[in-house]
Amino acid sequence: MSAVLSALKKSKDEIAVWRREMHQHPETAFEEFWTSDYIAARLDEWGVAYERGWAKTGIVATLHGKNGAAKNKEKTVMLRADMDALDITEQTGLPYASKHQGKMHGCGHDGHSAMLLGAVQYLSRHPEIFDGTVHFVFQPAEEGEGGGRVMVEEGFFEKYPVKAVFGMHNWPGMSKGTMGVCAGAMTAAADRFSIKITGKGGHAAMPHLNIDVVTAASSLVMSLQTLISRAVDPMQGAVISVTQLRTEGSESFNVMPEFASLGGTVRTFSPETRDMIETRIREMAEATAAAYHCSAEFSYRRGYPSVVNTEAETELAAEAAAKTVGEENVDTKFVPTMGAEDFAYFLEQCPGAYIALGQADENKKAALHSPHYDFNDEAAPIGVSYWVHLVETALPVS
Ligand SMILES: [Zn+2]
Ligand SMILES: [Zn+2]
Repeated sequence: MSAVLSALKKSKDEIAVWRREMHQHPETAFEEFWTSDYIAARLDEWGVAYERGWAKTGIVATLHGKNGAAKNKEKTVMLRADMDALDITEQTGLPYASKHQGKMHGCGHDGHSAMLLGAVQYLSRHPEIFDGTVHFVFQPAEEGEGGGRVMVEEGFFEKYPVKAVFGMHNWPGMSKGTMGVCAGAMTAAADRFSIKITGKGGHAAMPHLNIDVVTAASSLVMSLQTLISRAVDPMQGAVISVTQLRTEGSESFNVMPEFASLGGTVRTFSPETRDMIETRIREMAEATAAAYHCSAEFSYRRGYPSVVNTEAETELAAEAAAKTVGEENVDTKFVPTMGAEDFAYFLEQCPGAYIALGQADENKKAALHSPHYDFNDEAAPIGVSYWVHLVETALPVS
């Protein structure tokens, strides 16, 4: 076990206190006021400089190493944690369960914020172990509302130029004491589409006098799946799921409705596949509708892009993870997930790596976003230790 990890195991109870307090006060997108105050209060206790107000509730704390502030961005890195919760009614029955009805830290962002606080605390006491500057980002609104995008649009990288950005997420599918990372895509881009098909309604017993939207929509649902099998590189993987399908214009069993609408989600890993699928869904919707003498209106809304880790920073992350949990416990061929993550917006602007922290053990088995989920406090020292080793590795003392 690394010396850093042994030292941090002694801080485990303190980190768990912060984590559980945040767990009791879950707040959703851009409303993380209590959480933001709580984090700022810890930073004040330790005399750490920070700036508030990024994307409303976000905080950027800054520490310098043994030689003071970095002279340029080559000696500067950013570490990021998210701090928002979800609209879920907690079912854990834990003594520190959510006090906010209908809201819950069901994705472990309470743990992420507590681990980043742990890293700030440790590094503020040990500036001698790194040479350069570290910006610690406590980011709001990861769950669907794109707090990361807002921070980038507000000029994060202009205010805080950095050579690399690093993120971490707890992973219930991996055992506590393991970590996983890979170069390239770690998560998928998540987009949504909707299609409205217009035909001509009328008596269901006289289809020849009408234009049937149900047939056209049904055909389109089936055809869309051929894009995955015929248009996407088989080695890439992608998902199109039609999740909404309804007719409009009549509720009667003997009336052919005038309109049908369908909608769903698209998950892709590369920008090229993403562009291609958007174009091909549009073409297929218009052509299929036309084949049935209908017309189609198409709209496509882009959500989070794919988290794409860069090679050199992935190696740094894997090295820091190996120092923490041992090389044999680091999966450097992590299988990308179809889930999405707004750390992608930082990675679109800057090299970096996002890593998975194993969280599962006998007591913690629930999946992310489950009402039974709880972050594993036993994994927190490992996560903090990873952050510390990462800073040592990325900003070595010469
Ligand atoms: Zn989540
Ligand atoms: Zn999450």
